[in-house]
Amino acid sequence: MTTNPSTESPSYVLVADDDATFRLLYEQTLGAAGFQVVTCADGHEVLAAIDGRWPDILLLDVEMPGLDGFDVCKKIRKQYPDFPAPVVMITGNDKVEAVKRAYEVGATDFIHKPVTWAALPFKLHYLLRSYRALLDVRADERKMRALLEAIPELIFVVDQTGTILESLSGPVSGAPTPDLAGRRLEAVLPPDTANDARESLHAALASGQLQTYTYAWQDGRTFETRMVANSATTVVTLIRDISEQVASEKRIKQLAYYDQLTGLPNRQQFIRDLRRALARAARGEQKLAVLFLDLDRFKRINDTLGHTVGDALLKSVAERLGASVRLEDTVGRIRLDIPQPTELARLGGDEFVILIAGLDEVGEVEKIVTRIRAALTEPFSYEGHQFVITPSIGVAMYPDHGRSMEELLMHADMAMYQAKAAGRNGHRFFSSSKNTRSLERLDLENELRAALEEGAFSLHYQPKVDIASWQVVGCEALLRWQHPERGWISPGEFVPLAEETGLILPLGRWVVEETCRQLKAWHAAGFDDLTVAVNVSSQQFTQSDLLDSVLQIIWAAGLKAQCLEVEITESLLMQNVDETRDVLRKFREAGIKLTVDDFGTGYSSLSYLTQFPLQSLKIDRSFVRNLHVNRQDAAICSAIIAMSKELGLQVVAEGVELEEQLDYLRQHECDQIQGFLFSKPLPADEFIGLLAKDGSASSAG
Ligand code: C2E
Ligand code: MG
Ligand code: MG
Repeated sequence: MTTNPSTESPSYVLVADDDATFRLLYEQTLGAAGFQVVTCADGHEVLAAIDGRWPDILLLDVEMPGLDGFDVCKKIRKQYPDFPAPVVMITGNDKVEAVKRAYEVGATDFIHKPVTWAALPFKLHYLLRSYRALLDVRADERKMRALLEAIPELIFVVDQTGTILESLSGPVSGAPTPDLAGRRLEAVLPPDTANDARESLHAALASGQLQTYTYAWQDGRTFETRMVANSATTVVTLIRDISEQVASEKRIKQLAYYDQLTGLPNRQQFIRDLRRALARAARGEQKLAVLFLDLDRFKRINDTLGHTVGDALLKSVAERLGASVRLEDTVGRIRLDIPQPTELARLGGDEFVILIAGLDEVGEVEKIVTRIRAALTEPFSYEGHQFVITPSIGVAMYPDHGRSMEELLMHADMAMYQAKAAGRNGHRFFSSSKNTRSLERLDLENELRAALEEGAFSLHYQPKVDIASWQVVGCEALLRWQHPERGWISPGEFVPLAEETGLILPLGRWVVEETCRQLKAWHAAGFDDLTVAVNVSSQQFTQSDLLDSVLQIIWAAGLKAQCLEVEITESLLMQNVDETRDVLRKFREAGIKLTVDDFGTGYSSLSYLTQFPLQSLKIDRSFVRNLHVNRQDAAICSAIIAMSKELGLQVVAEGVELEEQLDYLRQHECDQIQGFLFSKPLPADEFIGLLAKDGSASSAG
């Protein structure tokens, strides 16, 4: 090594010596070795030189007049705390005293006189290299320190006994004091987490992997402790406040697994808990009960009084139910009358479920059901209103009524329907004998929805025949459902279900649309006098825009309102008389013909009918069926016919199958008949085929 090997600028050596000969020697030896050398004759010159530019290395003769080497070094270290260069003292003797002083004033190293000139460049090169390495380390350390200071977490190093060796950062606000060195982990963490801390510490040392655990501080905040070994015996421990994270996780969980209205667990949460409870019950060979609770006629309260009242009511119901199944009473005493754990959840709407696990005998369920029903007997009051709410409860037991979560929920639901069917305000245990029917019913409901979407319905048309001329004067559209597996399903089976589920609204609309489409086609084919009657359920009349939408459909098809007839039930006339009368009057004014269907079954008197703008009346099939053998039925039929005439109403007899029936009706001057005697309800093309042969209802015919 004779020159500075790199392309970097040569290292700059500043030398102070009061002896001119030595100065020359320094200049020559170091200059020849590739250093850039500047020499000074005394301490003041050194300070002046440093002020201009910092050397890479500073050599100071200790003995100089005025400021000696020690003084200069001391001054430099004081004035320039960041002075970047090693300071080498050149001492005249090797007295321990001088060496000691040199270090005290901040010297980096020293050289004894007499100087070994040949070795000097090597010594300086070595010094420079190691000093730079030292500087790098210091820079890294500073960076690390800054980093640790910037981290809000509490970080310290512990040994394997759990003693804190050094604290690296912190403190976390609210957590323990900053200087932890010498203290034990237990002193820093909540006492009840000491075990976790020790386990975590040992696991971190044994596995070399990160160990974490969380704990709650007294003030309710949550902390997470992370431990990772940084040597065979020491572990870096970090404690951070994760309260916010925990809070937002809780909020998310709250949204996902709890019902926002009542704060009760929701369906998802209940299903998870039920699964777990089932697993436990299976292991412990214990019974378990699922109670399905539905409030009777809740929908009516919601519809008539609004959702605010409905919501308030659901909240109060939830509270009362909660109190009736809670483990502890209000003073915190454990109640022995309730098997544990019992859980209450809201599935949605007015449906609640209760899970009772750890049951020894079924009798315990009866007790809880009694409690629940008792909790709801007291009327609820809301803004001056009082409500009595009753529940229908279905119970399914594990393992008797099902072993899977799905089965139990379904069976509890079915049992609840049975409780409703049995007159509401009661409870039923699931029973498999009644199972098939309700199962079918549930399937049917789902399939009904699907059928509506998939367009699986069609209409058949049954002729209405004028008795005198024996000509077709109109027809009635009757719904048909061709089920892919069950075949033909009668409207008698699915219309009531559609009414109950509200599906009658879209279905009824479809009937009107399809009827108008078909009728338009028939008119276009020349049967332009033809009229069609459609059946409209009372539920459809709850839609305030029923008439508007019917008229829109008629007009959109390019038809006149006069070719549509609406068959209504007698029961409609008996609900909200004033309102119904107004609505029907509007139908009438629009030109739509109104017929009372199934007359005679609804206990309304004929005079009562005069209040409504009706045009015709259909004698119910049940009176027609036996009129030729039963004198009473015959008398009813003739009375209805006679009185209708008085009131100016047309009379139609439905369900006419036999000549005898027809003869009787003709004798008593019934206007029209509808029945298998003339024709069954027919698909559209067959119906029009019949009409073409018959020559009725057509101006062209
Ligand atoms: P409805 O309006 O009284 O219809 C007459 C029912 O009597 C029809 O039954 C028809 O097929 C049947 N029928 C006609 N002639 C005879 C006969 O000579 N003997 C016997 N035994 N029965 C006869 P269907 O088609 O099963 O309809 C049953 C009920 O379903 C209808 O009674 C009506 O209340 C309801 N329905 C049918 N279609 C609709 C609809 O589109 N909307 C609504 N809301 N209800 C409908
Ligand atoms: Mg000297
Ligand atoms: Mg009808």
